[in-house]
Amino acid sequence: MSDSKLILISNAEPYAHKQQDDRIIQEKQPGGLTTGLDPLMQEEGGLWIAWGRGEADFAVVAEDNTVRVPDADGYTLKRLDFNEGEVQGFYYGFSNSTLWPISHNFVTRANFSPKNWQQYQQVNRKYARAAISEAEKEGWFWVQDYQLCLVPGMIRDEIPSAKIAHFWHIPWPAVEIFSTIPWRQELLEGLLGNDLLGFHNTSYLNNFLQTALCRGAEVDWEENLVHYHGHTTRLTAIPLGIDYEYFSSLAEKKEIREEAARIRDYSDVEYLLIGVDRLDYTKGIVPRLRAIEKLLDFYPQYREKLTLIQRVAPSRTGIPEYQEMRERIDRTVGEINGRFQTGPWEPICYFWGSLPQRELVPYYLAADAAFITPLIDGLNLVSKEYLASRKNGQLILSEFAGVSEQLDDAFLVNPYYIEEVAETLHKALQEGKEAKKQRYDKLNKTIASQDIDWWREKFLQRWENCYE
Ligand code: UDP
Repeated sequence: MSDSKLILISNAEPYAHKQQDDRIIQEKQPGGLTTGLDPLMQEEGGLWIAWGRGEADFAVVAEDNTVRVPDADGYTLKRLDFNEGEVQGFYYGFSNSTLWPISHNFVTRANFSPKNWQQYQQVNRKYARAAISEAEKEGWFWVQDYQLCLVPGMIRDEIPSAKIAHFWHIPWPAVEIFSTIPWRQELLEGLLGNDLLGFHNTSYLNNFLQTALCRGAEVDWEENLVHYHGHTTRLTAIPLGIDYEYFSSLAEKKEIREEAARIRDYSDVEYLLIGVDRLDYTKGIVPRLRAIEKLLDFYPQYREKLTLIQRVAPSRTGIPEYQEMRERIDRTVGEINGRFQTGPWEPICYFWGSLPQRELVPYYLAADAAFITPLIDGLNLVSKEYLASRKNGQLILSEFAGVSEQLDDAFLVNPYYIEEVAETLHKALQEGKEAKKQRYDKLNKTIASQDIDWWREKFLQRWENCYE
């Protein structure tokens, strides 16, 4: 990478600017993408291209829409601006109402609007043009996620010798599901402009190989290679890690421990569970609440003794079905609490709203177990954050969370089978001290060694190996 600058291209930006009273402040954006890639950019000093969504983002940029982040010694962030039609068609439309549901197997939720597809192509072209115009020599381009499928192919067309890699942060579905998208060939061809394409696990990688094979590419299953129109794309599976050190050291802090003790005291139960999710139909929040109801039906001894703290962070509020989802969760919580509540005790303690990551740690620390049961999830960082914040604790995890391949020592459940989820939860809560400890230690060892630095280094190493 030394011979040419790194250009990182993602839809989400690492820093946003916003107005606070009479001044503009810079905010680091939460999430795995920023945590994983910001240190790399600070080290390499390259260019990051992203959508400028912050309310004061364009008040701080130079004429070419760039700004240095996190400060003058950092790297260059180039912000792209989209009009309302593009935001609707590209972001809410094709990205979040077509590619998101399809990649998560929800075919009947997908919208196949040609107008949205047109906007998706237009915005991908804007990203590609911005990247190409900034490239030095052949350039190293690292593209992120599902909003930018077409960018690798567009760059490849202009700069055939470009070094291009992509990390796909969500699941890759079975070929039959992917092929329901009318523009599947264009999407696939865009991704096959990459030299390296990364997924969180081997199941997504194998789905991609099968998709490529069925759609006319030649596939090498041994080496995970796809040959198409004279170009080869190498695939790799490396699960995203977390900043383990950040979570484990935060959990040592006095004020965090005190806040955790307050949460624990307030709940006043023997078994405290935690669930933290962005609002999404993939997260399986309602079935999870129903599993708590089943547990209390099957095992009345947990009544007045167990509470699930469920935090839900607002997301994609511009899409009506997300608003409906929120109402459904509200109703389900009310119904279950109404059924079982006695005195001050409620089985579900529900919070709507987003917290800074630091403020989630007391919740992780307070809870005996994390109850994470998405119907499907690209990876699920919360499960890793929970483990990293603690020295013990249990993880009840959906087998359909991408991270389950890596954390297979957790109590794995099929989130569609509510009775089984309740039974497994009971088993986890009754597990002996020694077995619990052994299980936790194994999980912890995995996430401590496979952290965010490990992920980044491994990906970069495999990318460089493509040119040996
Ligand atoms: N998160 C947060 N505040 C909240 C809820 C969640 O900062 O109120 C963070 C959480 O710490 C995690 C991320 O959002 O890093 C959620 O990642 P995950 O992989 O679990 O799910 P995603 O939202 O990416 O589907």
